[in-house]
Amino acid sequence: MKNIPVCPHAKLCGGCQYQGLAYAEQLAKKQAQAEALFSSFAPVSPILGADEPLHYRNKVHAAFGCDRQRRIISGVYQPGSHAIVPVDDCLIEDETADRIVCAIRALLPKLKIPVYDERRGGGWLRHVLVRRGFATGELMVVLVAVSPVMKNQKAFLSELRAAFPAIRTVVLNVNERFGPVVLGPKNKVLYGDGYIEDILCGLRFRISPSAFYQINSAQCEKLYAKAIEFAGLTGTETVLDAYCGVGTIGLCAAAQAKQVIGVELNREAVRDAIANARLNGVKNAWFAAGDAGAYMEGMLREGRRPDVVLMDPPRAGSERRFLDALIRCAPSRVVYVSCAPETLRRDLEILTRGGYRVEAVQPVDMFPYTEHIETVVRLTADGKKLHL
Ligand code: SAH
Repeated sequence: MKNIPVCPHAKLCGGCQYQGLAYAEQLAKKQAQAEALFSSFAPVSPILGADEPLHYRNKVHAAFGCDRQRRIISGVYQPGSHAIVPVDDCLIEDETADRIVCAIRALLPKLKIPVYDERRGGGWLRHVLVRRGFATGELMVVLVAVSPVMKNQKAFLSELRAAFPAIRTVVLNVNERFGPVVLGPKNKVLYGDGYIEDILCGLRFRISPSAFYQINSAQCEKLYAKAIEFAGLTGTETVLDAYCGVGTIGLCAAAQAKQVIGVELNREAVRDAIANARLNGVKNAWFAAGDAGAYMEGMLREGRRPDVVLMDPPRAGSERRFLDALIRCAPSRVVYVSCAPETLRRDLEILTRGGYRVEAVQPVDMFPYTEHIETVVRLTADGKKLHL
């Protein structure tokens, strides 16, 4: 077989479980997996594959450290450890973002900016995060370091920006804690506005460092189009966009709805969502910061019932609290977007026991070369007596 990229880092990195498999075979595997999990609920539509399965990741995260010869290295953590596998060019990451990571690595010794040393505990820089708006070309660089004081900041910024003029913002994120979470709570904007903008489904979105943004823009447009089609909007509905991030799905749906309400836990993302409504002149969308389950319970208490719920929870799936309140609120349609099929299946079992019927299951390949599957599901309350 030809044209199957083989990455030299694959063994140690572990990020691409489908390394060496032809793209058509990857899609067939994902389809079979989705059918095994969901065909008992409803027929599973053929997976929507990517036109460009390489270099699709618009967000790159590189861990920084030193090797045994005390040379600076950057790359990914080996699965289950903090040993860094040096990676300069990844087959699924954006190439400009990868070049920026390498350029930063080269700048550090020149400007005497120290890298954090996990074994000895000294140093400064821990991670670099780069995000690129694929439609706008705008770049965000986030330096994650142990303190807000940066050596040779001015020289660093001018050299980096001269090499990459599309950089729109540089942010210093302070994270003194050690654990799986890359970003700390404090951001210091070193250059620009602290966010970038991108365009999705014809709308502009501003995205801040800690806000979630789908990492595969081309596939994301297909996913959102499907989600909005599944919502079956006619212009009269109140739509709840639960787990809304920077408001992307809800704002894309707003033109076809009476009103959209978004709820999201991350305050930075909610601020972006509010700004995004304004940026696009959307006047029928509101956003609230908080836990989706608590918000849904509040709607139920106040007798505010959405007609359609669009939900897109994190990998852990939705909480029982949210699902129970959802069943009692009884919206006529629910569109569930999921990046974790196992928790989706668990939640679909709860929703179907609560009276919902799964009408359509659409897998979308958001993560080529990896085993991850994104799925969008349409559920309806049609003709069913809901257990209120
Ligand atoms: N729909 C958005 C974001 C999906 S990611 C998009 O397509 O871009 C899931 C989002 O759920 C994240 O933004 C995360 O911050 C948020 N989240 C996680 N737990 C939550 C909770 N309990 N209540 C509300 N939002 C939550």
